[in-house]
Amino acid sequence: MTNIVNIHAKKKFVQQYQKGFPLINKDTIMDAGVLQGEGSIIHLHDHSGKFIAKGYYGRQNKGIGWILTTDKKQKIDESFFEHKMVEAMNKRQSFYNDTETTAFRIFNGEGDGIGGLTIDYYAGYYVINWYSAGIYAFKEFVIRALDNIADYKAIYEKKRFDTKGHYIDDDDFVKGERGEFPTIVKENGMQYAVYLNDGAMVGIFLDQRDVRKAIRDRYAIDKNALNTFSYTGAFSVAAALGGSVKTTNVDLAKRSKGKTIEQFSVNGIDFEQQDIIVMDVFDYFKYAKRKNLTYDLVILDPPSFARSKKRTFSTAKDYPDLLKDAIQITEKNGLIIASTNNASFGMKKFKGFIKKAFEEMGSSYKVIEEFSLPEDFTVHPSFPQGNYLKVVIVEKRS
Ligand code: SAH
Repeated sequence: MTNIVNIHAKKKFVQQYQKGFPLINKDTIMDAGVLQGEGSIIHLHDHSGKFIAKGYYGRQNKGIGWILTTDKKQKIDESFFEHKMVEAMNKRQSFYNDTETTAFRIFNGEGDGIGGLTIDYYAGYYVINWYSAGIYAFKEFVIRALDNIADYKAIYEKKRFDTKGHYIDDDDFVKGERGEFPTIVKENGMQYAVYLNDGAMVGIFLDQRDVRKAIRDRYAIDKNALNTFSYTGAFSVAAALGGSVKTTNVDLAKRSKGKTIEQFSVNGIDFEQQDIIVMDVFDYFKYAKRKNLTYDLVILDPPSFARSKKRTFSTAKDYPDLLKDAIQITEKNGLIIASTNNASFGMKKFKGFIKKAFEEMGSSYKVIEEFSLPEDFTVHPSFPQGNYLKVVIVEKRS
């Protein structure tokens, strides 16, 4: 693991690395071909051989590694990981102290100094997400460091890498006492059932916390809400608790139905008053138009890419069309909550999609509120691309 490989940045990119850009991109390196075993330590130099920074080799769909320090003498050992993790935990003290919220991110990759590694906390359980075989090579250090500094019931892990970039399905348990799932976490007083031993998705996406709160506190009252790509219905729980008359939940995955019933139930909401529909969202839009169904709150939170039997959907290409479908079944003065986690484009382009869709529908709108990642999802100052979440709440005016 202490195998050190020397690489050199192309002249054009030296300055970017000197300024603290944390992601090592293949295209910016003169001799990336020398990199072999993932997890080896990289010494990055400028084109003339002067040391810039130290990092590790790990392949993700973005980049081939991450910078860890500019100190040439810094050892990448247990104590290095422990220091970074203590720092990250200290920043989240207010989350640990908040008894109304028991699920949050305690370590956010490059934002907390180590790209490719995130750690989430769910009411006494820690879940480590490994994004490359390279960072996974440091597993012993990371686990021991976490063990040294945290009180926990158990540690779980998700390996979000393999040759195809898909999730590897094996036992997620690492250490401690195996939990019984679901376990219930709280978020601003709402309850969510989570499963930490059941694949990559645990039942709730922590990065939408502020949006769920806003829906409950400000946007839900008296609304007839449509939640598309609804997964476990987390947004609908917020809407129902915030006074929505009814929620309609649409997701293609069969398992979403039982999971949505469960989320409503743990919050004391009568699920029989809600609609939970297993269907392709695009078919549902057609159905709703045919039946003249309309809504005054429509939530759009699709995956970046989705492939169903009939079509493929890519947010970068098809979001305007998705919005056009939504606009057609949204009441005048109704709200559309447009969300995407696609890191390949920014807020400006996303707002361009919204403008385009409304223009093409001959409709007008007003942006009411915008969200990006919440406070616990720390963003690296030299890597704003890390702030992938974009949520825009718009009111349909005409
Ligand atoms: N909005 C959810 C997260 C959505 S995850 C939340 O806040 O919790 C993406 C979901 O989209 C998955 O549950 C997946 O099953 C669903 N999905 C993907 N393609 C779909 C399609 N064409 N129609 C309906 N659901 C789809």
